[in-house]
Amino acid sequence: MSEPLVRLEGVARHYSTLKALDGVDLTIERGEWLSVMGPSGSGKSTLMHLLGALDTPTAGRVWVDGLEVSALNETGRAKFRREKVGIVFQQFHLLPYLTALENVMVAQHYHSVADAPEARAALDRVGLGDRAHHLPSQLSGGEQQRVCVARALVNQPRLLLADEPTGNLDEDNEAKVLTLFEELQAEGHTLVTVTHALRVGLLADRRIELSHGRLTDLTVPSQEIDRRYDEVLIQLWIADERRTRLAPERVQLPDV
Ligand code: ADP
Repeated sequence: MSEPLVRLEGVARHYSTLKALDGVDLTIERGEWLSVMGPSGSGKSTLMHLLGALDTPTAGRVWVDGLEVSALNETGRAKFRREKVGIVFQQFHLLPYLTALENVMVAQHYHSVADAPEARAALDRVGLGDRAHHLPSQLSGGEQQRVCVARALVNQPRLLLADEPTGNLDEDNEAKVLTLFEELQAEGHTLVTVTHALRVGLLADRRIELSHGRLTDLTVPSQEIDRRYDEVLIQLWIADERRTRLAPERVQLPDV
């Protein structure tokens, strides 16, 4: 098996006494889609910032694609961000006075490959080739988020990080963005998404859950456990409706 794309060893991010992340060990395989779940304030964004080299850990080590990101200085981190990661935020952060094409080209400017055809290709890739000359205000929420994905893809990143990418979208637009993520994964991109929505999390290959800066469960998020217990209640309810007694040994208990 090839080296994982991402490895975290004993990673912590403390703000004086507050432990935003506290001793996280994690690997992410190449081509994997990992979903990060957990309540507000549990450390999800902090983790994403460390993966994207927007921040450095106060302890522990982070490797991405063979590079020890946690040992880089600011210049090294900027180079890493240009070359290896694409970041999509919940808030779109598009410049309102630039067209979709120009917004993608601004990102290219930072990657020092200002090239309209490439920006155009990235917009085509997210299905927005025909919206290239629209301003953000002329695009729907889902279209704006897809421009952000195009912007994140323009440097052909190894790792795509998305923090609540569908948090502000209606169901239709959410579905479009999620289909795009599924396609990107099928093309070999490695994705890490933060989400509160279990239905979004379930699309990923694997879910991790953070609680107070620690990984609590590597396989089954708590909402999923709730869902499985709901299944048991439904079995009991159906039995009750049919006025049959369900012997305890016939209840199918969830596999947790
Ligand atoms: P989440 O994304 O799960 O909502 P965050 O990673 O944003 O959580 O935050 C985790 C904890 O770290 C929270 O208690 C938050 O208030 C704290 N925190 C995050 N950034 C800072 C900062 N720059 N200074 C101080 N505390 C911070």
